[in-house]
Amino acid sequence: MKREFLSADLLIIGGGTAGCYAAITAARRRPERSILLVEKADIRRSGCLAAGVNALNAYITEGRTPQDYVEFVRRDAEGVIRDDLVLSMAERFNECAADLERMGLVILKDAAGKYATRGKWNLKINGENIKPILAAEVRRYSNVIVLNHVNVTDYLLLGGRVRGATGFSVREETAYSFAARAVICATGGAAGLYRPNNPGFSRHKMWYPPFNTGAGYAMGIRAGAEMTGFEMRFVALRCKDTIAPTGTIALGVGAEQVNAFGEPYALRYGLSTSGRAYGTTQEAREGRGPCYLQTVGVTPEQETDLIRPI
Ligand SMILES: Cc1cc2nc3c(=O)[nH]c(=O)nc-3n(C[C@H](O)[C@H](O)[C@H](O)COP(=O)(O)OP(=O)(O)OC[C@H]3O[C@@H](n4cnc5c(N)ncnc54)[C@H](O)[C@@H]3O)c2cc1C
Repeated sequence: MKREFLSADLLIIGGGTAGCYAAITAARRRPERSILLVEKADIRRSGCLAAGVNALNAYITEGRTPQDYVEFVRRDAEGVIRDDLVLSMAERFNECAADLERMGLVILKDAAGKYATRGKWNLKINGENIKPILAAEVRRYSNVIVLNHVNVTDYLLLGGRVRGATGFSVREETAYSFAARAVICATGGAAGLYRPNNPGFSRHKMWYPPFNTGAGYAMGIRAGAEMTGFEMRFVALRCKDTIAPTGTIALGVGAEQVNAFGEPYALRYGLSTSGRAYGTTQEAREGRGPCYLQTVGVTPEQETDLIRPI
């Protein structure tokens, strides 16, 4: 294989939402520093938001505070959270939303010209182009180099510290070594940890991107890094015939989760995210699956709204 060696002050692995935003933030704050953003797909359409998004699910709406958000997350995660990390994000949500709007993201407004909210912590957006918008912003900074189609496989350690990484091109026969003073890993989650519950042809269909394979976790564990915040893992809740974030249908049109006997079961387990996921698996385990989203009460207007192209 051909070998390439590249160095930068900051190496960012994974150019999804977090990786692109990290590159933008670092480029603005330290224009004298060089940043290398390495992505195994193409930052214009990669990761969770490759196909877009319809809401910013993290916003401090009027009358609420970042601390309220921490409390909400604490309840939803049954107390298993790192308060400091959640708070540091919550304090920047609104600044980040305004920044995205400046970049060109369409955030819907109400009649009074205020951001239109969906639920307590969400803003409605026309987000099908959020990744191309972020990618275009990344490209505005001359101190950022983007390397697409390179899969990173391991960190390089020097004196017990991460000082770079190795990887290979998924298009050409090229092996890469990267050296950096600091490394940020933003490779997303581990979609394939649990097997999708779909039959036959749909076996591998999932709404979380299957290409987020947990590579970043594996690299961290192999390098001996402290892996923090892993007590609470995101597991996509799966109801029969719904290969989508369940909340999109459940919240959007009030479709209730029911078991195979048509019994609503969510209240029995609690309405937190973890409670709803646990309840669904418990119902299946106890022979009352598969679970469905009850859509019989959905009005024709709501249905039209669901299938309406954005
Ligand atoms: C279908 C769907 C709908 C969603 N809807 C919403 C919504 O409406 N509102 C909302 O706020 N959130 C929503 N989310 C959640 C949100 O999209 C994610 O929380 C967020 O994008 C995660 O960002 P990330 O940068 O951590 O991961 P990602 O954006 O997934 O980025 C990870 C990147 O790392 C790259 N990568 C992985 N491994 C490697 C490797 N070894 N080497 C190099 N690159 C690698 C991937 O290709 C990818 O580009 C949704 C998610 C999905 C999947």
